[in-house]
Amino acid sequence: MNLLEIVKRRAASVPVVDSADVVVVGGGPAGIAAAVSAARNGASVVLLERYAYLGGLATGGMVLVLDDMHNQTEISVRGLAMEIIDRMHSRGLCVYPPESDRRDSVRGTAEICRKWSRWGVCDFHVNYRPHPVVFAAAFDPDGFKQASLDMVGEAGVRLRLHSWFQSAIVEDGRATGVIVESKQGPQAIRGKVVIDATGDLDVAASAGAPFSDGSFIVTTVSRIGGVDTDLAEKFQFEEPDKFFKLEREAKKIIRGCWDYWWLKTPLPGIVWCNCPHMIGFDGLKVEDLTAAEFEGRRRMQALLEFARQRVPGFEKAYFVDFAPQTGVRQTRLLEGEYVVTKQDVLERIHFPDSVCRGRDYYTPYRALVPKQVDQLLVAGRHYSATSQAQKLSREIPPCMAMGEATGIAAVLALEAGITVRDVDAEAIQRQMRAQGADPGDKPAANAQFLEAA
Ligand SMILES: Cc1cc2nc3c(=O)[nH]c(=O)nc-3n(C[C@H](O)[C@H](O)[C@H](O)COP(=O)(O)OP(=O)(O)OC[C@H]3O[C@@H](n4cnc5c(N)ncnc54)[C@H](O)[C@@H]3O)c2cc1C
Repeated sequence: MNLLEIVKRRAASVPVVDSADVVVVGGGPAGIAAAVSAARNGASVVLLERYAYLGGLATGGMVLVLDDMHNQTEISVRGLAMEIIDRMHSRGLCVYPPESDRRDSVRGTAEICRKWSRWGVCDFHVNYRPHPVVFAAAFDPDGFKQASLDMVGEAGVRLRLHSWFQSAIVEDGRATGVIVESKQGPQAIRGKVVIDATGDLDVAASAGAPFSDGSFIVTTVSRIGGVDTDLAEKFQFEEPDKFFKLEREAKKIIRGCWDYWWLKTPLPGIVWCNCPHMIGFDGLKVEDLTAAEFEGRRRMQALLEFARQRVPGFEKAYFVDFAPQTGVRQTRLLEGEYVVTKQDVLERIHFPDSVCRGRDYYTPYRALVPKQVDQLLVAGRHYSATSQAQKLSREIPPCMAMGEATGIAAVLALEAGITVRDVDAEAIQRQMRAQGADPGDKPAANAQFLEAA
């Protein structure tokens, strides 16, 4: 008896607690968008999440800037990503630069850059400084949780929290549901289409779809309170020599971070630390994830001690919290009908079946469709890309756009009585546009094209 046969037999003895047209596994950015998109298009939808809240790394991982949604001339990700920004903004829990402060594809002025640099809303991909201010949004994690719950609830999605995906149910090569673990024991949820939005490809891997093993730096994100950010910024811009000397020392302590080790949040006096960068940890291994918590906290405690003693504005600083979820950027990656390469991303290769966009790159529908298993789609950071390509194309807004596209694709397949593999990408593009999203069907001026094979 092979593994799938065992799972099938097991499924028969597990109580079926719900069934729906579309079952989405993983309530992170991609999963929320997939579920809302499918439900708004008329499908019955069950959304499964292991934790007590929605948002994935955006909330539990405290990744607090929505970026990669602007290509220097235009906003390239809209749709549900923009809707969640608007919802948080209306509650004062999201900050972004107004149009007048953005300097599209030209160097920002020193004054504008100073105003926005500590919000993390600059284009860090250009090789000149100061980095231009672009459309990106700094937000509060609880604001994201609430907005997600509101969107999912209003769309009529049947949300099941505290449900830890355990195995896929595959019959005759088609995904027909999943089994989750819960406090009540295993539970089965049946679906006509299953969307894997776990970020680690848990469902597709369990269903037998081909994948590769990726890895990248891991981070224990934290927030520090009691910071006089005005004083800290004054020091940075008015005493640059002293500032850079202290920065070098700080970076030695944490051993790896991006340009800035702290950024502002919408909550006054509270900053977030998207660091340290830690290498050599496997985001799927219990031992590594546990060790990362020890190591990350150790480095950050040492940094805070240093900052309290030496960095102006941090004299009374303290830790508010460490993110409940370890910051895992990359694990399993789908090897789908098309595998996006680093060259595709960097050279902004346009695909005729592009169904969503990131900063200035395009995602073909084929990169969301697994090989070998039918009625299964994939959305989010585990999409079909090489490890190097994923590192450049895994931010929250593009993951939401993937989710939005898969929700539409699932409904189109069900309406037409076809498999998701056979859905016409043009129909997805049309519906993406109809709901205010940008599918990337119209290549931007800087897009390039693959030579015909
Ligand atoms: C430290 C760090 C910094 C980053 N910085 C930025 C940034 O500044 N801006 C930006 O836009 N992006 C950033 N990213 C990338 C971004 O956060 C992720 O790529 C994005 O959140 C991916 O969304 P997702 O929905 O695909 O996956 P995730 O956010 O990982 O969501 C997956 C969801 O599935 C659930 N899940 C997983 N397994 C199971 C299971 N077995 N059963 C049930 N549920 C399950 C999880 O709990 C989670 O809710 C950063 C990432 C990290 C780790």
